[in-house]
Parts: sequence; C-alpha cells; structure tokens
Amino acid sequence: MSAARIPLAIPNVGSGEARNLQKCVDDNWVSSVGPFVSEFEERVGDLSGTPRGVAMGAGTLALHMSLHCLGVGADDLVILPSFTFIASANSIAHAGARPWFIDIDPGSWSLDPAAVRAALEAHTQRRGEDLIHKPSGKRVAALMPVYTLGTPADMDAFGAIAKEYGLPIVADAAAAIGVDFRGRPIGEMADLTCYSFNGNKTITCGGGGMVVGRDPELLQKIKHISTTARVQPNYDHDAIGYNYRMTNLQAAVGCAQLDRLEDFIAVKRRIRTRYDEAITEIPGISAFPLPEDRGSTCWFSGFLVDDPALPRPPEICAELAKQNIEARIFWKPVHLQAPYMDCPCEDQSTAEALWDRIVTLPCSTMLTASDQDRVINAVRAIISGK
Ligand SMILES: *Cc1c(COP(=O)(O)O)cnc(C)c1O
Repeated sequence: MSAARIPLAIPNVGSGEARNLQKCVDDNWVSSVGPFVSEFEERVGDLSGTPRGVAMGAGTLALHMSLHCLGVGADDLVILPSFTFIASANSIAHAGARPWFIDIDPGSWSLDPAAVRAALEAHTQRRGEDLIHKPSGKRVAALMPVYTLGTPADMDAFGAIAKEYGLPIVADAAAAIGVDFRGRPIGEMADLTCYSFNGNKTITCGGGGMVVGRDPELLQKIKHISTTARVQPNYDHDAIGYNYRMTNLQAAVGCAQLDRLEDFIAVKRRIRTRYDEAITEIPGISAFPLPEDRGSTCWFSGFLVDDPALPRPPEICAELAKQNIEARIFWKPVHLQAPYMDCPCEDQSTAEALWDRIVTLPCSTMLTASDQDRVINAVRAIISGK
C-alpha cells in the first residue's frame, strides 16, 4: 500500500466554521447582508490598523473595485511586478487600464522600489496634474506592490515614491492578512490593501476578498459602488454599480477562520522554518527569501533549484507525485502570458531567472511533523540522486 497523499495547501475548517454556518441557516441570513458580513468587515479592518473593511466576493474583485474607485480607467497604467498571480493584472485590465511591469527584488520577491524609481525617472514626465508615461502617452495612475508569499514589499520605500510622484498605492496583499511591516499593521502602509480568502490562502471563506484602507470616505464609496450604488430605501442608483458582495455564509466561515489566524500563521512559520533548515543542508538548492525586518504569513514553503545539473522543477514535482506528495511549480511571470505580452515592460532579469527554478512544497496547516519528514526525505533523495 502506498503512503497517504500529502496535499500542497488545503483549507483547514472545523467545528467553529460549522457552528457559524448553522447559525446562518437557523437565522435565515444566508445572502448578501447579515451580521457576519459586518462582523468580518470590522474585525479585518481592526487587525489591519484601518477604520473598516469592505467585503467582496473575491480578491480579484477587491483589487478591481479599489482601482475603479480611485479613478483608474482607460488609458491608464498601473505599476505591477510581473512576478505575481495573473489575477493582479486581470484586475487592472478589468478597470480598463494596463499593467506596466517592473521587476522584483530578489531579497523579498516583491516589487523592487529602486527599479520603480529608476523607471519613473527615465520614462515619465508631468503634464498638469498627471504623470505621463512618455513611450505610450498613457497616465501612470497607481502603484500595485504584491505581498508575495505573504511578505509585505518595502512599504517605507513605496510610501516615499507614492508621495513624491503623487501616486496612490493599492497593495495586493492576497495572502498577507495579519502581518506587520516594521512593527506597524499592513493596512497603514497603502491607500488600499486587498486580501483574498480563496481556499488556498492564509484564511479562507471558500472564496472571498476584502478591501481595507486609511480613508473612511473612500471605503464608503467602495462599499456603495460594489453593492449596486443603491441609494436607500428605494430603487434609486446614483452611479453604475457592481454586484461584488460577499454573502453572509462566506463571512460566517471567515469569522471562524479569523479566530484561528494567529495559530495558522504560527504553524505556517514553523513549517517554513523546518523546511528552510533542511533545505539549506542540501547542496544545489536554496530556501525562499524571508526578510527579517517584516512579518510574513509564510504562505508558501519550498525551494529554488540553483544547480543547473539538477532535475528541473517539473521533473522534481513528477517524482514527488509518484510518492503521493503534491508539489508544484509557481507563477509564470505575467509579461510572458498571452493577454499581457504587449504591455509596457522594464527589465525582468530577476523574475525571469527565478520563476522556473521554484518548487512549492506541502504547507497546509494540518501538515504533521511526520508528513513533513516524509516530504523532506523525498526531496533529499531526489536532489542527491539516491
Ligand atoms: C489569490 C490571489 C489573487 C486573487 O484572489 P482571488 O480571491 O482568487 O480572486 C490576487 N493576487 C494574488 C497575489 C493572489 O495570490
């Protein structure tokens, strides 16, 4: 009999989630308004250091609403790292704009502030209030750093750039809920910060997202536009609205998950530390970066294949699959994806040298120590060819 399957990253739901869902059924609050939605918005706003949150049906929708309500639209560019999940770029396209791809910092795998500054200096000029990207004639409308692996980008540097160039920051913090940046909660670091509660994120609602931010008026606008722009109590609508709401069922799961967030992050960090210790002992591979000056949810664990003589990540994943261990390659940069090949793009040497050397390893919060040993031993055997 083969050993039990070890999945890559699966949700951890239990009796607390079941209890909250039962309450929704008992009280008949199952749709897009309900006490769990308000509770979830308040609690996520609080832990982010912001006045409130606005719940959405998905992280992608949270990003789209953020850009839309900041006035990002047609003929605009949004600065984005190419090394991200494609949803970040899709949210920009949904707003009618295009991404302008800038490389990542190898020490955090997040948008590189020095590269952003250099690109802004070389390729933009002021025209009245607007910052114009000279090669395309488009307006540069926002910065979108991505908190890769649940680790914030260098938000002190981006805060300075944003101020100097008059650009709002919409942070894609999909899996970074609950972390701090140099001792401050991450919601303080950007105009708007967006989370995802998809099944593989730090906490899940089944699916869902949230926007948090510093400006209560902007958050109120986001709430209004994302809920059909209805002026109560009748069917009056003062703008083109969207139906991007989260349901009370999703929020019920989210509230129960929030109770466990600290534990989840502690477990993810323990898993990550254990892998990193083992990986640094194996010649030819290295650990993912983990900057010491900021928090991280340690969303994913895994390793980089440094030695070109070793098997490539797809072969390593196939070998692990034979032993019932689910490992995966990671994001292919967005400038290499069909819908975004024609976007303005700066040098991507870090992203290009990185992405196809990554293997992600099982890191669910239910992963046991003996399962993790099995993964580590299997990796060691494959890499050392035994
Ligand atoms: C998951 C993810 C998203 C999208 O979130 P959804 O809830 O799946 O729409 C956006 N950006 C990043 C970096 C993600 O990991």
